[in-house]
Amino acid sequence: MQIKRWMQGLGVVYTLLLLTICVPGWRMIRNGDEVQSTIKRIDGKQTVGQREKEEQETETRGKEKPKIALTFDDGPSAVYTPVLLDGLEKRGVKATFFLIGKNIETGGNAEIVKREQDEGHLIGNHTYNHVEITKLDDESAYQELKRTNEVIEGITGETVEFMRPPFGAWQKALEKKIHVLPVMWTVDPLDWATENPDEIVNKVVTEVEENDIILLHDCYDSSVKAALRIVDLLQAEGYEFVTVDELLVN
Ligand SMILES: [Zn+2]
Repeated sequence: MQIKRWMQGLGVVYTLLLLTICVPGWRMIRNGDEVQSTIKRIDGKQTVGQREKEEQETETRGKEKPKIALTFDDGPSAVYTPVLLDGLEKRGVKATFFLIGKNIETGGNAEIVKREQDEGHLIGNHTYNHVEITKLDDESAYQELKRTNEVIEGITGETVEFMRPPFGAWQKALEKKIHVLPVMWTVDPLDWATENPDEIVNKVVTEVEENDIILLHDCYDSSVKAALRIVDLLQAEGYEFVTVDELLVN
């Protein structure tokens, strides 16, 4: 009997010993599984994340760049327009120039107009004497536009299709007499009111959005400097500079 009890006691001790060894081991295995599955989950998440990222990148590559247009009024200027044209050419940028007829003729700037055309810029009408159209009688307003069209067309050999009304004042009835489409603007940094290019640049880059038409003047040193900095900053953000006709068509 004593031996039997001793054997039973040994059995209990043995069982306890086994439990002491096995339970933590089992826990370790369980924890190990959890660790493994957590790693798998993280791996899975990363894989999905990477896939999404790659899909987004492919989409961005497939998508067209956001477009904006730079427009320059009141030129050509014998001093500043060539500097601007050099800068735009270097950056592969096309812009739109709304020209004052008088500035082409009396300034002897026909060569600049030809260069604007040759380099792929769009040329529009900005009246002959830079006048507020709505303050003129119908015939005088018509003559302001017609004379300027003739001067430009005499140089480029192409029909002028667009115009920018000085001071933004347009007479709708004129569209029946002369086929030019008035083009307004959406971003106006008032570049003529400051000599500080930084001020112009900041106003434009903080305001600008896709499809915006930016109003500048190529008859000031500060405006030309600002325009080229605007191009550099916005090209880096992924914008593509186009002539206004591309924005109006879409
Ligand atoms: Zn103007």
